[in-house]
Amino acid sequence: MSSGPTPPGTTTLYRGGHVYGPTEPLATAMVVADDKIAWVGTEDAAAGLADGVGHVVDLGGALVTPAFVDAHVHLSATGMGLRSASLTDVHSLQEALATIEAAARRRAGRPVYAPGWDERDWPEGRAPTANELDRASYGGAVYSPRVDGHSAVISSALAAASGARDHPGWSDNGLVTREAHHAARDSFDAGISQADRRADIDAALSGAAAAGIGLVHECGGPLLSSEADFADVLEAGASGKGPQVIGYWAELVGDEDSARALASRLGARGLAGDLNIDGSIGSRTASLREPYADLDDPAHNGNAYLTVEQVCDHVAACSLAGVQAGFHVIGDAGADTVIAGLQAAAAKVGMARVVAAHHRLEHLEMVDASGVKALAELGVTASVQPAFDAYWGGPDGMYAARLGRERASGMNPFASMIEAGLALALGTDSPVTPFAPWEAISAWVNHHDPAQRVSARTAFVAHTVGGWRAAGVDDRGSLDPGQPASFAIWSAGDTTNLPDLSPGATLPATLRTVIRGRTVFDRLGAS
Ligand SMILES: [Zn+2]
Repeated sequence: MSSGPTPPGTTTLYRGGHVYGPTEPLATAMVVADDKIAWVGTEDAAAGLADGVGHVVDLGGALVTPAFVDAHVHLSATGMGLRSASLTDVHSLQEALATIEAAARRRAGRPVYAPGWDERDWPEGRAPTANELDRASYGGAVYSPRVDGHSAVISSALAAASGARDHPGWSDNGLVTREAHHAARDSFDAGISQADRRADIDAALSGAAAAGIGLVHECGGPLLSSEADFADVLEAGASGKGPQVIGYWAELVGDEDSARALASRLGARGLAGDLNIDGSIGSRTASLREPYADLDDPAHNGNAYLTVEQVCDHVAACSLAGVQAGFHVIGDAGADTVIAGLQAAAAKVGMARVVAAHHRLEHLEMVDASGVKALAELGVTASVQPAFDAYWGGPDGMYAARLGRERASGMNPFASMIEAGLALALGTDSPVTPFAPWEAISAWVNHHDPAQRVSARTAFVAHTVGGWRAAGVDDRGSLDPGQPASFAIWSAGDTTNLPDLSPGATLPATLRTVIRGRTVFDRLGAS
């Protein structure tokens, strides 16, 4: 099956599977006409439709769901990760060269970043040479810094481009230190052209498509990416060749006109995303009410990057302009700041305007019951990452190490949020965690805190419909007739409902992803 735009007038009947609408829970078949869902129903009715359609696809028991929405991603950083051939866990020089060669093939001539080698861990006991990098990369540009970052090996192409040979610290085997190293590093960074960046963005979107994701929310900003990067990301999303993109731009504004002008100039859905109230727990920069537990520093409560007044001004300006505002907030003191700022904005411009503008908060990992209630009243959406709990939650996890078990145990209270009427959208913060929608649902269903677990259906709705609603689109994310044909097909075992998500269960694998009628990932029928 070739991928590409659907020719007009194309109708396809998918039958013999399980179509999870979720409004028609027992459906086994679906008709797609051009870029829309035309019909969803059962096998009996499907038999009568088979003659009238252009194509019939036998699903062979596969599960069909709406395509997922990842509500927090960084696309070019995700693509940058694909450029990286990490040598940190490589056990020999030979394996290092094979890793670089695989990256060079994947990158098709684009520069390869291969950090993290330590010759002391390898039986060969030495670093790669420029000649070896040249062979592994088919003559491409390779920058391979040692684990400590103070020296590197570079390929001949990078040596020539950077002029590293003319600087102190050059050796003829391609090892560079001091000025030669800096010249090579600067040249490598500068060599990431717009074409490379666009290729990275496309690679990231392909990764999302392969994970059954049909829409991502890009979180860009002046401190995270650039306006040029943001424009490329939005253009890639609009091309129709992969997942759709809605963009958020993290820049503070002080008045209504600036909010409207900035959002419209950049094509941003909101002035939101990673507009940082604070940092992260891992790096001890999340803003906390009490000090970090693993430091002997009673004064270290993390970092607070914005004041209540700044939050209030930004939210008031955006509310008046009808633009979504939002912030990255992780710590409990950070949550206090953002809630006080939102409430102050509501006092200034009216609660109705604040609620109508549909503001959102990213992460919101440490918020108490009264904070959740206040945010629900303010009409705020929480854009959360269940994988964070799976990776770092629990009594022996990183959060407990930083905060102590008791404070960590109340983190990521997703079920409490839902019960209080807070709207939720799920995401990965890719590249922080990989594109993996079923893993996110499973992480929530199996939350470390049993009181915060929910049904698979609740988590599924948050990862589909919830992601659209978080961007102010209230009628997307299901497979009802008339909806855009944005869906994924999964091998999900024998199920007539959502798959088994019990701990250790094999999660569904993507067979096909279709976005607005166009197949953007396809393994259906491949053995
Ligand atoms: Zn982020």
